Formats: sequence, structure tokens, C-alpha cells
Amino acid sequence: MIFGTGILKGLFVTLKNFVTSYFRKPDNGGIFTVQYPEERDKAIEAFRNFPFLAYDGTPDKVRCVACGICERECPPKCIHIVMEIDPLGKPARRPSVFEIDHGLCMNCGMCEDVCPFDSIYMDHAFEVTAADRGKELVRPKEALLKSNDYFLKIRPGTATLVDQKRRAAEEKKKLSRAATLPPQGPVS
Ligand code: SF4
Ligand code: SF4
Repeated sequence: MIFGTGILKGLFVTLKNFVTSYFRKPDNGGIFTVQYPEERDKAIEAFRNFPFLAYDGTPDKVRCVACGICERECPPKCIHIVMEIDPLGKPARRPSVFEIDHGLCMNCGMCEDVCPFDSIYMDHAFEVTAADRGKELVRPKEALLKSNDYFLKIRPGTATLVDQKRRAAEEKKKLSRAATLPPQGPVS
């Protein structure tokens, strides 16, 4: 074996990648260099950053019922929820306060896994910096709310499955409601 062959081979790979990077993009066999922020690579579906709260149609139709399970299970305890109280003094089953401290969140996705109401999902958005490490990183409910259409756009596979599951549950509920209605006899 000739001394230095490995070095030459390595240099050849570097040269090849240097030249092809000008002509070929990653999806066309080129090297993985994205000229951010002018270029953006499409995130894979499982990519996750911070969580968002899903709503159906309009932001007042937030799916979250403020059960507090995600708040309890979040490892660094960065979720803070307060249940809304209706005019009769009863729990309104939606959050009046829902905050996530991005300074503490470790992007684990546990909140998504434990939520029984299909309400909280990991987002792809990553440009969420703040000038201040304190209050500014605590994101309020208004900043966390995102539509189901957005969910379908960033994570079509998961969002479609969730939609199917929710539709099936709704159908089942309708059928069982109909089954409990008294039979309609002929009107005399
Ligand atoms: S992703 Fe993890 S750390 Fe962040 S809010 Fe959810 S459970 Fe908490
Ligand atoms: S996001 Fe889910 S788990 Fe968390 S409080 Fe709302 S309904 Fe409960």
C-alpha cells in the first residue's frame, strides 16, 4: 500500500463535495448544506421543538379541557394551567391560563404523549427566540394556540390519524345517544 493513499482519498471526497455542493441539493444526492436563512430544509414529520395547543376552527374552540395531566407529567414542570370558571362558579373545562416556559422546556414530547384530549402537539417552529431569558420565554396561551389546519400542514400523518380517531369517537357518541332515546311510536 502506498503511503498517504488515505489522505488523498479523503481530499478527493472533500473536493468532490465542494464542487457538487454548487450544483446538487441534498434531495438530489448533494451534500447536506442548507444556506439558512435564505434556504430552509423541510422538517421531517417527527421533528419536534416546543408544544402548541390545537384548536378546531376558531381559537375559542380549544380542545384542551385543562385537566392538568400534562402539567403534572412534564418533567421540568414548565407548564402552568389555570382552569376557567364559568359564571355559575363551575369549572368551564377549558384553560383561562395555559403557559409554557420555553426556558425550561426540554422538548421531550411527554405532554403530547400523555394528553388524553388530542390537545397538545409538538411543533416544528424553531425561530422562537426572545431577548430576555425571564418573562419573555414564558409563552402564554394566545401564543401557543394553533389551528388543526396548521397541524395537518406540518404533521399530516399524525394529524390525519387524530382526525379519524376523533371522528370515529364522535360517531360512536352519536350512536349511543340515539340508542338511549325512547323508541318513537306511531302518533295517534
Ligand atoms: S415537551 Fe416536555 S418539557 Fe416541554 S412542555 Fe412538554 S412535557 Fe414539558
Ligand atoms: S393539553 Fe391535554 S393533558 Fe394538558 S391540560 Fe389540556 S387536555 Fe389536559
